[in-house]
Amino acid sequence: MSTAERDERQSRHKVVIVGGGFGGVRAAQALRGADVDVTIVDRTNHHLFQPLLYQVATGILSPGLIAPALRRVMKKQSNVRTLLAEVGDIDLDAKVVHAAAPDGKHIDLPYDTLVVAAGATHAYFGHPEWAEHAPGMKSIEDARLLRSRILGAYELAEVATDPAEQEAWMTFVVVGAGPTGVELAGQLSELARHVLPREYRAIDTRKARIILLDAAPAVLPPFAKKLQKYTKKTLEEKGIEVRLNTMATGMDADSITVKGPNGEERIVARTKVWAAGVQASPLAELLAKASGGEVDRAGRLAVDPDLSLPERRDVFAVGDMVSTIDRLPGVAQVAMQQGTYVGKLITARANGDDTTPAPFKYFDKGSMATIGAREAVADVRGAKFTGWLGYVMWCYVHVMFLIGWGNRLGTLYNWVRSLRYARYRGHRLISVTASYDKSEDPHEAAVKSAHPQENVEHRPELDPRTAPGTPAPPQDKPAASA
Ligand SMILES: Cc1cc2nc3c(=O)[nH]c(=O)nc-3n(C[C@H](O)[C@H](O)[C@H](O)COP(=O)(O)OP(=O)(O)OC[C@H]3O[C@@H](n4cnc5c(N)ncnc54)[C@H](O)[C@@H]3O)c2cc1C
Repeated sequence: MSTAERDERQSRHKVVIVGGGFGGVRAAQALRGADVDVTIVDRTNHHLFQPLLYQVATGILSPGLIAPALRRVMKKQSNVRTLLAEVGDIDLDAKVVHAAAPDGKHIDLPYDTLVVAAGATHAYFGHPEWAEHAPGMKSIEDARLLRSRILGAYELAEVATDPAEQEAWMTFVVVGAGPTGVELAGQLSELARHVLPREYRAIDTRKARIILLDAAPAVLPPFAKKLQKYTKKTLEEKGIEVRLNTMATGMDADSITVKGPNGEERIVARTKVWAAGVQASPLAELLAKASGGEVDRAGRLAVDPDLSLPERRDVFAVGDMVSTIDRLPGVAQVAMQQGTYVGKLITARANGDDTTPAPFKYFDKGSMATIGAREAVADVRGAKFTGWLGYVMWCYVHVMFLIGWGNRLGTLYNWVRSLRYARYRGHRLISVTASYDKSEDPHEAAVKSAHPQENVEHRPELDPRTAPGTPAPPQDKPAASA
């Protein structure tokens, strides 16, 4: 690069985008060709398609198919660079983003315009301690952990000799009957009833108990009544116990306590999954404090109609971490459209157009959810679809929103192979990390390896059986309470 080019670049308008998810990537893409330098900073090196995480957790897809490298996604856009770093602070007055590189090194990113699209995380309704017993799905690591726990549970049921122990391993509870909970429960049923039965010798996986619970009176709360009814009926036909008006009140490594219409009940279940609440990224509160703004109960930052912070025309926030006056849902379409809107607005300003922009307006293209292989519900601008037709529509929409033709074709291939024909699950790699120690009680050794982890380092803090402070499991377990 010549000195003149370097000087020109240094004087160019700098846009920093925090987060390379749906909102951040769309904002960067809308800045294609704009006379600005864009830096996307993300704590992961990939752009994650969260709607298909449950398929990684149940062995249908490999992680790479739904999480292409951010650098690759942006490689053709020469005014964008990507950085792997975690943003910890933002100085709105000095206009600098403070981040930490993977080795802990401090990185300062000065900006002229800032876009924050840091998404959301799980919310455990005041019980953060439940996270170790009922992990949620927000990242590739979460999905891998769940895959290890789900498949590991069957492995441990196979070696258990006590029927009550087997039952505890073969009881799965999904908390939250929104789209993620419904999709995951559907796939748990597919695994138990169609994929695994012929592979085990000591257990009948068809006897696995799958419970889906929600405090709301219906599954898929945002969907039309007709689709809710269809979904509940289909889930029940798949052998899933759907418990509505029921909330989790307690949890430990071995069980979950729930309160429903029939009172309180302890369900012995070693595998629990959290698909209930979400909480905006902590950066939302940080921005609110720094700018005198507000956050709602879910920690979402209130933004102006043009998605900028009040009194800060140079700072925008989009996606799951913001709340707008029309209370939009936390879905990918909202984040993508907001990202595109902000990218275009910054481009217009870079071109000298300083007029007040029209407020952001969301175009609702509809909502969809699968209930298992070959069944889905879809609500597309008022038209309702169920069953096979809904499923084909769901497949089409989701595959088209994946980034890269290789990933789209790879995903289609896996779907045809796993969901349609052989009920094949090609991505089920897990391994035992605790080794057998002869000096130990054999039962304890089994307990230590209770949740085999995938070929990643064993993380005891995430393992309910070995987490510090977790009570030792009872030796003789009562039969699962009903
Ligand atoms: C399991 C699951 C299933 C879903 N299914 C659907 C669905 O079927 N349909 C639908 O429309 N929506 C679905 N959603 C919701 C959808 O994925 C979100 O609405 C969307 O991802 C929001 O986009 P975003 O850009 O706001 O955040 P995200 O896409 O979450 O991106 C945020 C990015 O910011 C990065 N980041 C966060 N904090 C920092 C930091 N401090 N420093 C650096 N980087 C940071 C993250 O690594 C991430 O890459 C689902 C979500 C989940 C979790």
